[in-house]
Amino acid sequence: MAPAPQPRRTKIVATLGPATSSRDRVSALVSAGMDAARLNFSHGSHADHETWAGLVRELQADAGRPIALIADLQGPKLRLGELGTPRLLENGSEIVVAGEETAADGDLPVSPSVIGEVLQPGHEVLIADGQIRLLVLKVEAGRARCAVVNGGLVSSHKGVNVPGVPVPIPSLTRKDLDDLDFALGLGVDFVALSFVRSAADVRDLRELIEAAGAPAHVIAKIEKAEAVDALDAVVSEADALMVARGDLGVEIGPTAVPLLQKRIILTSLERGKPVITATQMLESMVHDHEPSRAEASDIANAILDGSSALMLSEETAIGDYPVEAVAFMDRIACAVEPSLGYRHELPEASDEPTVGQAMSNAACDLAEALGARAVLVPTFSGRTASAVARLRPRRPIVALTHHPEALQHLAIEWGVTPLLIPECPDVEELWARSIEAARRSGLVSAGDRVVITAGTTVNVPGGTNVIKVDVA
Ligand code: PEP
Repeated sequence: MAPAPQPRRTKIVATLGPATSSRDRVSALVSAGMDAARLNFSHGSHADHETWAGLVRELQADAGRPIALIADLQGPKLRLGELGTPRLLENGSEIVVAGEETAADGDLPVSPSVIGEVLQPGHEVLIADGQIRLLVLKVEAGRARCAVVNGGLVSSHKGVNVPGVPVPIPSLTRKDLDDLDFALGLGVDFVALSFVRSAADVRDLRELIEAAGAPAHVIAKIEKAEAVDALDAVVSEADALMVARGDLGVEIGPTAVPLLQKRIILTSLERGKPVITATQMLESMVHDHEPSRAEASDIANAILDGSSALMLSEETAIGDYPVEAVAFMDRIACAVEPSLGYRHELPEASDEPTVGQAMSNAACDLAEALGARAVLVPTFSGRTASAVARLRPRRPIVALTHHPEALQHLAIEWGVTPLLIPECPDVEELWARSIEAARRSGLVSAGDRVVITAGTTVNVPGGTNVIKVDVA
C-alpha cells in the first residue's frame, strides 16, 4: 500500500545574518519550513547572535515544533587581516603574504601569524574560497613573495587556504573558546566545529561542552583532506556531520566534491548519524528570485545521496530572497522525496547491529508490510529514532521523548517529527502516551495502524527491546 502524503522529510538549516535580522524575517523563515538556524560565529557580534537565538526560541514556541540552534565556530581558519580599503591584485604581479605580526606596509597580512612559518616556494595560497590564487616564489623571514596567478579584489577578513600544508594551530582558537562559552550560554543545541582534522579535535570540543554541563551535540564539518583521511574515526566521535563543500572544494579541489559528498553521507548514515549537506545550494538566489536548474538538480541529488538536512548560507544570511530560498528548497525537496524508495538502496549497516538497530530494522519492515500509517519511536536520547531514520522508511517517523534536548537534536534528523511526552512510569503508559501525542499532531488519525518500538524498562537509554503493532 502506498503511504499517505506526509511532511517534508529532508530538514532545512538556514544561516541567520543581516538579511534575517528582524523578527518578521525569522518568523517568515520558520513559516517557510526552517528546521534549524545556524549562528555563524565567523561573522556577526555576540549581541547579534543573542538576538537571533532569542528570536528562534520565541518563534519555535509559537510554531509548536523544535527548531535547532547550531553555533558554527570559525575554527582554525586563516584569514586576511585588516586591509583598510579593498586591494586589486593584478594577474602576473607579485605580492608579499606575511603573518599579521610580521607584515610590512603593502604586504597582505594573514592571521594567525603562523602562516609565515609554514609557507614554502611552490605552495599555493588561495583567497576568498579560491577565487584568488597565489603561488609562493620565495620566503624570507616569515614573508612569502608570491606571484598572482588568478587576481581580483581582496578585502579585510577574507578566508585564506593553503591546501595540503599542515598548519600547526589548535583546533579551537582563543576566539572559538570565547564563542563556545557564549554559545553554550545561549543554550544552543549543536556546536559545529570547522576545519576538523582528527577525531581528537571532536573529542576535545565534546569534553569542553561536557565540562560546561551543556547538552549540545557536536557537528564535525568535513572540509579538510585530513578529515577525509580520518573519516571513520571522525564519524564515530561526532554526533552529526556536515559536508562543508565550500572549503572542501578549496582544499581538495571542486572536482573531488561530488563523490566525496556521497562517501561522507554514506559513512555517516552507516553509523546512524545525521548529515547536513552545505554551501552554494541556491547561490544564485542571493540575488535572483528563482534558482538555476543546476541548483534544483544539486538539491535533488543531495537528497538522493541521503542527506538528512540541507543548509543555506549566504542565501539566507545576506541574500535578497532569504525566505524565498527556504521556500524553494522546501518545494524541491517535496517534489523529489516521493521518488525515494523504501530503504532507498542504502547499504546495510556495516557493523554488527545493536539490539536497537535490529529492532528498528524489523519495525520498518513491519510498517512497510502492513501499510502502517507511522512508525512511533519512544526514545530516551533520540538514538533509536536516528536508527529508524537511517533506513529511510516511507512512513513518517514520530519520535516521542520527555527530554527537551533530544527533541531539539532530532530537529535535523531526516523524516522525524519529534514530539514531547511526559515521563512515563511503565511501557503501557509510554505506548498510550505515544499514540495520543501522534494523534494530536495530526500525523495519525483514530483507527490508523501504527508500529511502535520501545524498551520494556522505560527511561533507560538503549533499552529498545519490543515492537508493537497497534491501532491509534
Ligand atoms: C563550508 O565551507 O562549506 C561551510 C559550510 O563552512 P563556512 O560557511 O563556515 O565557510
